Amino acid sequence: MSSQQRSGIALVICAPSGAGKTTLIKRLIKEFPRFSFSVSCTTRKPRSNEEQDIDYDFITKKEFSWRRDAGYFAEWAEVHGHFYGTPLEATRALLSQGRDVLFDIDVQGASQLRRTIPGARLIFILPPSRRELERRLKERRTETPESLRQRLITAGTEMMQAYWFNTWIVNDDLERAWEELRAEYIAASLSPSLRPAFVNSLLEEWADDNA
Ligand code: 5GP
Repeated sequence: MSSQQRSGIALVICAPSGAGKTTLIKRLIKEFPRFSFSVSCTTRKPRSNEEQDIDYDFITKKEFSWRRDAGYFAEWAEVHGHFYGTPLEATRALLSQGRDVLFDIDVQGASQLRRTIPGARLIFILPPSRRELERRLKERRTETPESLRQRLITAGTEMMQAYWFNTWIVNDDLERAWEELRAEYIAASLSPSLRPAFVNSLLEEWADDNA
């Protein structure tokens, strides 16, 4: 076994909307080609810039229920009135091939994934304050006063779950948040659990010493 051979890391990134998750995820995938993005199934309609099987596997509610009942998903959740789920077997296959897999899923999904994919690294990206989160959401100019209010309430509910994540990254400065995410990923890739046989294969080179 080569010193660089290992199984893949499942990296789950959650954040309230406006915390900077999408920017950080794009950067991680660009810098580390070993990453695959986990393509979820969803019952929502594609947006104009989205492609089937690249952004999502867009399916009907009936198909979703069928797959869910057949145990197809590693996790699933209803978010903003639509269903979303992560395919279990496809994910396992990628990880065993040594691909790192990035999951952009909501908090309910993350709590299921930590059971179905043991060893998943769970990262929560936090805003520095409520005021700053509100400022960023307003800056996007995509929210009505009501949807802004709703997003802030949802952010509070999601952050109540932050305590069981492995890592918190406070995004008050994008460059620093990026450095922290990068460091977290590199640290995760050094875990002995990703290459349990490596030390044994190394020790075979020492076997003659004890003969
Ligand atoms: P959007 O519809 O804007 O792409 O995603 C809406 C929300 O659904 C985001 O918070 C995203 O993280 C979450 N989401 C996307 N795919 C999945 C999934 O497979 N499982 C879960 N639990 N949430 C997902």
